[in-house]
Amino acid sequence: MTAKLIDGKAIAKKVREQAAADVADMVAKGYARPGLVTVLVGADPASEVYVGMKQRMCKKLGMESFSHTLPADSTQEEVEALVQQLNEDPKVNGILVQLPLPGHLDDEAVLKAISPEKDIDGFHPLNMGRLAQKGREPLFVPCTPDGCIYLLDEVGVKMEGANAVVLGRSNIVGMPAALLLVKRNATVTICHSRTKNLADVCRQADILIAAVGRVEMVKKDWVKPGAAVIDVGTHRIDDDTKEKGYYLTGDVAFDEVSEVAGWISPSPGGVGPMTIAMLMRNTVRAAQIANGLVEV
Ligand code: NAP
Repeated sequence: MTAKLIDGKAIAKKVREQAAADVADMVAKGYARPGLVTVLVGADPASEVYVGMKQRMCKKLGMESFSHTLPADSTQEEVEALVQQLNEDPKVNGILVQLPLPGHLDDEAVLKAISPEKDIDGFHPLNMGRLAQKGREPLFVPCTPDGCIYLLDEVGVKMEGANAVVLGRSNIVGMPAALLLVKRNATVTICHSRTKNLADVCRQADILIAAVGRVEMVKKDWVKPGAAVIDVGTHRIDDDTKEKGYYLTGDVAFDEVSEVAGWISPSPGGVGPMTIAMLMRNTVRAAQIANGLVEV
């Protein structure tokens, strides 16, 4: 069997186009453009790249983009005071605090300070709590796992009744991905660093989401024939033979797993583009919530 490719780039483009159309619709009806603010503490080069990408994408889709950069030695009180100020700013619909924060800061307290209505990353404990509860819906879902589910939906992978295995239990990917799959009536197993017989567990999966942060760890013999495999992992591997001096890969050994899986989302070109697209979608939703345009 050769797996069908889940084209994250093409699917993310559709999500972004819909977000841009929703923005245009709001503006045509006289509402303010949705606004996203990024908060960066310190000068981590990777974080600066991510924040820049998000700001450019906002502008491209017709949204307002604001940014705040605080010094790396900012105190907890200073960061939370800025978040509070942004909570009260009507031009700001979505607040994104770029993680990781410098080690001396309590990121949980900072995320908790964000108004749940502006929590476009979906990391506020209230939104995470609702995600974990039966019959409750969060205002926002974390973008990367939301992107995984969107990819599965888009290609018609049935989640209800499926055996799903999530490799990884982080707050930003693995755990919310598992909770989303439960909401979609899958039977979910969550694996982590203490899981025994990992390959055997993964082989039971009709849907396998790999968010483990280990280079090409998921091999061909870990995958049930016909399974849908979503690779969240992102790794930059130095390689002098490449023009850029490196190449990107994921948590899944793509070539060999493609021989057995039914569907596969590659890395790069799968979940990565979905994450930023879902963030844009969440920002539009935050503006719709603020203007009473959607029921929550
Ligand atoms: P993380 O916080 O490091 O979590 C990794 C998870 O994998 C943990 O639950 C850990 O278990 C588990 N794990 C680690 N080594 C393992 C092993 N040998 N066997 C079994 N389980 C193991 O990572 P993350 O933030 O969730 O990110 C995961 C990957 O996704 C990374 O490659 C990251 O770069 C990528 N990512 C991509 C996007 C995107 O937009 N495409 C977004 C976020 C993350 P314990 O809990 O027991 O430690």
